[in-house]
Amino acid sequence: MKEITLAPLPYADDALAPTVSEKTISFHYGKHHAGYVKTLNGLIAGTKYEGLSLGEIVAASRHAGDTAIFNNAAQIWNHDFYWRSLAPAGKGGEPSAELLASISTSFGSLDACKTALADAAVKRFGSGWAWLLIKDGKLVIESTSNAETPCGKPGVKPLLVIDVWEHAYYIDYRNRRAEFVDKCWNLIDWHKVAKRMEKPRVALKDMARYVCITCGWVYDPQEGDPESGIPAGTPFEDIPDEWLCPACGVGKEMFEKER
Ligand code: MN
Repeated sequence: MKEITLAPLPYADDALAPTVSEKTISFHYGKHHAGYVKTLNGLIAGTKYEGLSLGEIVAASRHAGDTAIFNNAAQIWNHDFYWRSLAPAGKGGEPSAELLASISTSFGSLDACKTALADAAVKRFGSGWAWLLIKDGKLVIESTSNAETPCGKPGVKPLLVIDVWEHAYYIDYRNRRAEFVDKCWNLIDWHKVAKRMEKPRVALKDMARYVCITCGWVYDPQEGDPESGIPAGTPFEDIPDEWLCPACGVGKEMFEKER
């Protein structure tokens, strides 16, 4: 069967020390994260979830109310995202100009953003996660409980997360969650955050329909024009210049954006 695999850490086990020690990684990644993978594979064996991608399992189990499967799948997704929100100290770069502008609009300053995230992390009762997200186009900070995840939530794009389950910090910080969260700022992978902010390529393009002004034939980017080799999802401006209207044979320059 096709199993869900434990994604490798994107750095060495001791690369986040001393903020996150090698010993914490050995338990957090090697036991907890690995444990969710093992448990999930056991739970989905022989079910409708077997063979689905991790994101598909999160979405389908959430929808079906299959709590144990959802919890384990969501925890794997959250941990993959967490490990890739962090980088060895000095390797993560600085927040991009675009991110700083958004942070300034939403929080006033980077310090205020950090304070808001620390607040969300510390006030999360019990186990959970503290997120910086784009929600409906706006930068927000939220915490989620236990395994709850923004994965697959429409209109929500996670940018970074800090794990505030005790297993994330108890070896290094005991009960001092706030100190752990504060020190995590030295490990944020701002290059990854900037990549996560990028809009999907197609969304940047004009996905409007275009109308042939000579014959009225409509090019719909959702459908493309497979007969002439233009796959569905191709924005009008990505169609090769030599392409001709399939209905009347005029060139691209004879098309107008539909109003
Ligand atoms: Mn964890």
